[in-house]
Amino acid sequence: MIDKENAAEIDDWRHRLLEWFATHQRPLPWRTTYTPYHVWISEIMGQQTQMERVAQYFIRWIERFPDLASVAAAPEQAILKAWEGLGYYSRARNLQRAAVRLLETGPGEVPADYQQLIDLPGIGPYTAGAILSIAFNLPYPLLDANVERLFARLADIDRPLKQGTTKKRLTAMAETLLDRKNPRNYNQALMELGALVCTPKKPTCALCPVQMHCRAYRADTVEFRPLPNSKKQKIDIVMACVILRSGSEYFIQQRLPDDIWGGLWEFPGGRLEEGESAREAAIREVMEETGWQVSDIATFTTVTHHYTRYRVTLHGFLCTIPPCSTEPVLTAASQCAWVSLEQLSEYPFPAGHRQLVSALHTTIFPEIR
Ligand code: SF4
Repeated sequence: MIDKENAAEIDDWRHRLLEWFATHQRPLPWRTTYTPYHVWISEIMGQQTQMERVAQYFIRWIERFPDLASVAAAPEQAILKAWEGLGYYSRARNLQRAAVRLLETGPGEVPADYQQLIDLPGIGPYTAGAILSIAFNLPYPLLDANVERLFARLADIDRPLKQGTTKKRLTAMAETLLDRKNPRNYNQALMELGALVCTPKKPTCALCPVQMHCRAYRADTVEFRPLPNSKKQKIDIVMACVILRSGSEYFIQQRLPDDIWGGLWEFPGGRLEEGESAREAAIREVMEETGWQVSDIATFTTVTHHYTRYRVTLHGFLCTIPPCSTEPVLTAASQCAWVSLEQLSEYPFPAGHRQLVSALHTTIFPEIR
């Protein structure tokens, strides 16, 4: 096992890792200049999101918001729209809050200081370490899911990753093995190797540059490492909503700022109550959230979206109503709007409602497009 007492092996491990990274790294857009603002955006986007997807969003984001000042000055709706589809919208809101604070309290630059970074909204120890090591080449060790899996195999750890003793051991490994002379490339190399070679399923050990240091490979236990944590079942949530149409316009409302998905837009709806059908729930929710009594609603489509801990099934209904004589009485929204089918695309929606908007575009009311 490579550890403190085996300096030659540690040197060889770092050397192989860095050599592999030099020729195999993916050409990600923030890797050309390592501008601290770019690295910060990539790290926030990269939380819970695949790198290929991050790269697409990153390019559009930098075109729209080239620096901290443009993030700080943008309307929240523009920020949420640029983030739409990445999920976990609190990341985007925190990003903007952090940009505003940096502009108000200093020169408006990403700080090269751990304490200043973790004091910012949305930046925890991992993200602070990632920014410091990747943007500023400072010696902070990193442990993300890819690195944890790689280390668990490297040391052939026969305990689940989430166990306290395993965490301590992984942290110690990260400290010991860190290349303090080249933390930027070393940390990226580790994560890249975990993402491309030492993958969760079927790692390509035959192509692995550090195979000779891997205990699990030698013990033929790779397929059993890391040991799985006890799996939590996803919680099923069933919801229903009504797409209200009047003439060629659709009714949408903006969620309250403190709600989950605060600031995003949606069709009125909510969770089914016990014993209630989706249709009954949809009618009740419209009444509760707008004061409008609807009855003649037609089944439109059902969509499903997976979150880390939840699986949400959303039943969408359609209802055509005459031009309203009464204003809605909003109880679950900060404002509302009647918009055309084309305009729906300009508003940020949570994933399930976004799927309903896409379905509207492709399947319904072609005569009004
Ligand atoms: Fe991962 Fe296989 Fe390399 Fe070991 S030899 S680090 S299991 S890819």
